[in-house]
Amino acid sequence: MKPAIHPKYETVTVHCTTCGNDFETGSTKDELRVDTCSQCHPFYTGKQKFAQADGRIERFNKKYGFKNQNDEE
Ligand SMILES: [Zn+2]
Repeated sequence: MKPAIHPKYETVTVHCTTCGNDFETGSTKDELRVDTCSQCHPFYTGKQKFAQADGRIERFNKKYGFKNQNDEE
């Protein structure tokens, strides 16, 4: 390696902003933040989390007071 041209590769702490988990990895950055990690990602946890996004039809029906056909009474 050529001296003085490579960034310092060090052990850094990675902080997960979703579950608050901290773990270490190697990086040239001082600190890393991630949105998901192996503690909270559905692939590793085996639990599915679905975003509660209403579709256009649901929003229309809600706006005009119609009940969704799929809703159970
Ligand atoms: Zn996480």
